[in-house]
Amino acid sequence: MPGFEVFGEEEKRQIQDVLDTGVLFRYEFADQRNGVYKVREFEEKFAQYCGAGYAQAVTSGTSALKVGLAALGVGPGDEVITQGFTFVATWEAILEVGAIPVFTEVDVTMNMDPEDLRRKISPKTRCIIPVHMLGAQARIADIVRIADSHAIPVLEDTAQAAGGRIGGRHLGTFGRCGTFSFDAVKTLTTGEGGMIITADETLWRAMSEYHDHGHDHAVNPGGRGGEGRSFIGSNYRMMEIQGAIGLAQLAKLDMMLSEMRKNKARLQEAASVIPGIGFRELVDAAGDTATHFSFFLQDREHCRRVNGVLRENGCGAINFAENTWHYYPKWEHLLNGRTLAAGGWPFAEPGGRKRVVYDPAALPASAELMDRNLVYPVSVRMPEERMAAMCEALKKAAAV
Ligand SMILES: *Cc1c(COP(=O)(O)O)cnc(C)c1O
Repeated sequence: MPGFEVFGEEEKRQIQDVLDTGVLFRYEFADQRNGVYKVREFEEKFAQYCGAGYAQAVTSGTSALKVGLAALGVGPGDEVITQGFTFVATWEAILEVGAIPVFTEVDVTMNMDPEDLRRKISPKTRCIIPVHMLGAQARIADIVRIADSHAIPVLEDTAQAAGGRIGGRHLGTFGRCGTFSFDAVKTLTTGEGGMIITADETLWRAMSEYHDHGHDHAVNPGGRGGEGRSFIGSNYRMMEIQGAIGLAQLAKLDMMLSEMRKNKARLQEAASVIPGIGFRELVDAAGDTATHFSFFLQDREHCRRVNGVLRENGCGAINFAENTWHYYPKWEHLLNGRTLAAGGWPFAEPGGRKRVVYDPAALPASAELMDRNLVYPVSVRMPEERMAAMCEALKKAAAV
């Protein structure tokens, strides 16, 4: 996840354009800004890149999820289904709109298991959020088909997979909307930032108004327009410097993906000598963003032995079953329903009755996969010595 690796003159020039106008705000100030609208331009170019009709920039990937959910009308009393292997932000946003997250198993794609999704849909389900984790595709066509048969909208959490595709079609364009994160460790980074794409103009207008206190921007795109105030909003506005950096980074995205694909292919080739190794299933290998190399060992014990050797050789891999930020049984604050709300909302109803109970053992199929999965983050620029050391460590791991 390496956008910061390729920072250069392009980013500096873009930032300088903003500093030259002195206008950091994305709207208004028409007299001072000399036609510079970086956030707006970033939205237009990002939508165009993804083949989406509309894009709404926001402050983060987390707020992109929240704004998307709000625009879809999700609120208290609703359930939203996502997967038990994702970053905490996915379900934090669900809680932020007052809804309750429900978790599915992941399958060998390391993303939402469509069969388990079928089982988890209830009369209260108002949205489904598959996550394209670690840069690779969820089974989005199957998920959308199931969701459509229940008339439930799909929001794709594409935070980790900007530029990913299936059959040439961009991730984030399969559901009603798709959200992206440009935080400090994502492929395309603006330090902090996020985006939501959609083909639905009405939905986009709701997002645009909600993210800026209810202001209407459709009449006057660089400023504020009709001011009809359809509903109460909040503030999730991106600032001009972020838009500027985003434009420079977007221009480098395809180059970054192609470099990561080459690096990942070398690691995969080196790892293939490990007896019994299997690779994470990709829905479309050509459209993998290759930000991570994820592989399965025979069982938990084999996985432990292999990572032991990799660690001894200075090349330890991530086992996400041990990671406290991305895996359901490790989210003890969620499992225990701990929020800052004195009344216990949204887990407890007024009077203290528990509305939801999370069992850490609820996702056994995911646990079986997570326990024998290892992951290497892939970067754009991997020094030859580092690559050689990783390949050598993988070769040694073949002996255990
Ligand atoms: C990074 C990330 C987010 C949140 O993005 P921020 O910009 O850090 O708020 C949401 N979902 C997933 C899967 C992520 O990896």
